[in-house]
Amino acid sequence: TMATFKLENVEDLYEIGEVLGSGHFGQVREVRERTTGQRWAGKFLKVRRGAGSWLGVERKNVEKEVEVLQSLQHPNIMALRDVFESKAEVVLIVELISGGELFDFIAEKESLSESEGIDFLKQILHGVSYMHSKNIGHFDLKPENIMLSARGEPLPDIKIIDFGMAHHFIQGEEYKSMGGTPQYIAPEVINYEPLGTATDMWSIGVITYILLSGLSPFQGNTDEETLRNIVDMIYEFDDHHFRRTSTMAKDFIQQLLVKDQIKRMTADESLLHPWIKPLTRTQVANRNHSSINMKNFKKFNAKRKWKMSYNMVFACNRLFRLQLLCKHSTLEDQELRQCESDQEDTETKPASLIRRRPSNSS
Ligand code: ATP
Repeated sequence: TMATFKLENVEDLYEIGEVLGSGHFGQVREVRERTTGQRWAGKFLKVRRGAGSWLGVERKNVEKEVEVLQSLQHPNIMALRDVFESKAEVVLIVELISGGELFDFIAEKESLSESEGIDFLKQILHGVSYMHSKNIGHFDLKPENIMLSARGEPLPDIKIIDFGMAHHFIQGEEYKSMGGTPQYIAPEVINYEPLGTATDMWSIGVITYILLSGLSPFQGNTDEETLRNIVDMIYEFDDHHFRRTSTMAKDFIQQLLVKDQIKRMTADESLLHPWIKPLTRTQVANRNHSSINMKNFKKFNAKRKWKMSYNMVFACNRLFRLQLLCKHSTLEDQELRQCESDQEDTETKPASLIRRRPSNSS
């Protein structure tokens, strides 16, 4: 059952503050609840107005993101508090996540042992395992979507964000999608085959590989080359970059970067892998003595940040991304221009928004 509408303005209840980040369809801003003074984040999404428009999210996709978030309550997954909507915009009031991205946090460290890295990875796996137990796949797991609750604590909590591509599987249904970021997508995405929760586990394999070495396993000189490397399963553990990596860590990655989804390690299985859950004293010692290739990791992260800001130049980045994946589709100049002009005139005042209460809280 879909949520009911409540005629309230977001600005009556929340004071809108500074911009925290931006995505393809709008901004994320800090908001303050007027009655309690509590701080939250507001994700402002532009909704596509018609079939002819390229900019904005399709309403059915926003509904999908909301429904997914409503069904997920876990310490490692960004919590949804409230939803407001108007014809042109939807605002999700979500838990404020102030620790920044995990990769940025790690890149500031002098060194990191595998055990310390695992403390974070385990939380990612717990969140993903919970999500998968609810038959939900995220389908866009990548460093940008793995954040930390707060800084200044020795071990901050992992928070998985951005459920814009997530899907709730219905028993017996086939689901295909072309979305994602080349570096992190599984072969079944590129081949346009049915996806499963295993698709997320591939991305976790890629993220772990990068975390340990600062290298991206399938990265080619172009996106096309990257996609080909993924489909052809061309990757290796370069001796130089992995010289301080434990054998167990490599085994963990190898069980995730498996082409056949059925044979790929599941989230629950991965939590029981000896690298994550060591059974012997030797296994514990190995993890403590092995370390992340910090020098190369910092290099990877700096390059990633540079690329991210470069990508922001394009308002229609997601279209470009899709275009890379769909060889047959070419966007006409005109459509791209339309996209830019759309952006200017969909500016709606949050005051015109209507509150929509999540169906599980009345
Ligand atoms: P994308 O276009 O990458 O899919 P999106 O439009 O779906 O993005 P998000 O990825 O959810 O938007 O958020 C965009 C950025 O806003 C994030 O990268 C992050 O920096 C920031 N952000 C998102 N959610 C929160 C939050 N709950 N608290 C603080 N900052 C957040």
